[in-house]
Amino acid sequence: MTQTSADLFARAQEHIPGGVNSPARAFKGVGGTPVFFDRAAGAYMTDIDGKQYIDYVLSWGPMILGHNAKAVTDAVHAQVDKAMSFGAPTLLEIEMAEKVCELMPSIEKVRMVNSGTEATMSAIRLARGFTGRDILVKFEGCYHGHADSLLIKAGSGALTLGVPTSPGVPESVAKNTVTLEYNNPEAVRACFAELGADIAALIVEPVAGNMNCVPAVPGFLETLRECCDASGSVLIFDEVMSGFRVALGGAQANYGVQPDLTTLGKIVGGGMPVGAFGGRADIMDFLAPQGPVYQAGTLSGNPVAMAAGLAVLTELSRPGVYEQLTTKTLALTHGILAEAAALDIPMSSNQMGGMFGLFFSEESDIATFEQVSRCNIERFNAFFHGMLAEGIYFAPSAYEAGFMSLAHTDADINATIAAAGRVLKTLK
Ligand code: PMP
Repeated sequence: MTQTSADLFARAQEHIPGGVNSPARAFKGVGGTPVFFDRAAGAYMTDIDGKQYIDYVLSWGPMILGHNAKAVTDAVHAQVDKAMSFGAPTLLEIEMAEKVCELMPSIEKVRMVNSGTEATMSAIRLARGFTGRDILVKFEGCYHGHADSLLIKAGSGALTLGVPTSPGVPESVAKNTVTLEYNNPEAVRACFAELGADIAALIVEPVAGNMNCVPAVPGFLETLRECCDASGSVLIFDEVMSGFRVALGGAQANYGVQPDLTTLGKIVGGGMPVGAFGGRADIMDFLAPQGPVYQAGTLSGNPVAMAAGLAVLTELSRPGVYEQLTTKTLALTHGILAEAAALDIPMSSNQMGGMFGLFFSEESDIATFEQVSRCNIERFNAFFHGMLAEGIYFAPSAYEAGFMSLAHTDADINATIAAAGRVLKTLK
């Protein structure tokens, strides 16, 4: 960490709460002060003092082509020269909707919003309006943004009423959210057996990226689909992170399970503030102005954001992209695990497409939040800071996934593995 970043962080705290506009940036979990960045290109970010880092955060996922890919910046510049916002319909919005529906066949209609939080909040309101029910089921360790009904954790027993995880969330909201263990199909069956007729929706990250990286185990998503079908509840896949990241068609393509609604964000906006939710036409048609469920946005479908997102989706549609991402990601995780094994440091990893998780753990089959919580956090924090000093930028938390871009070269990956070897040696 540089003196300039430390000075800026002190200055930031004068007029920005906690010095940041989103808590995950603040290095709370790992300690120290966040790095202030100035520019980025390809796999690299450069901080305010000119130090370069190989970046595996990628703006928390969106920059899958690498930073400032020419196809994207060209599209953005061309649109900025025409207009930045109309608040009226555009051709670009149709092209975006058509592209999303083509890439994710479970989506028949889609509405653009401005963040992942808006996408999940809107999808849940729509599911409640469509079913006329109130209860929402979600899973421990999954994050779906900061809407009230989602900032809830499990009560004392599996099926007891939820309790708010943040002051400001009313008990009256919490009582309609049930939180279950991820990757535990029995808990889901028990919940639906008891509450099924009142469950409006179940929301899940099909590949969880907010408790490190934890893919659904085989059969889990199928169980969710069966339970929702049997009770007439809406199945929502939150693919804000996994969408266009683990496969072109998202996690739902890899698993072969179709949700009723899907939420998107991150990559779909190409680095601009964008989210989206879509799915079955009969459900989506419940939205205003056609239907009774209200949802709106002054800047929704913003043309600059649509131009950026469309440019990314077009690049990702080229053949071989996800094979490349998978190869690069496995080279990185296998390389780091080999360095750890040589030093007798227990580590394991999870991976899907261009998304990965590294665990300082004896366990090699990490599938639940509890297992993630048992990992050696102190060791992760020391590893994080060691890598940062080496010029490698991993997510500043043991509970975040890592991301690979198409711009990362073999040389970048080998340099990262070599740095990991040096840092791991200091952790023995
Ligand atoms: N859902 C998932 C799966 C996410 O990973 C995130 C953000 N990391 C969100 C929703 C919320 O998105 P946003 O931060 O854009 O509001």
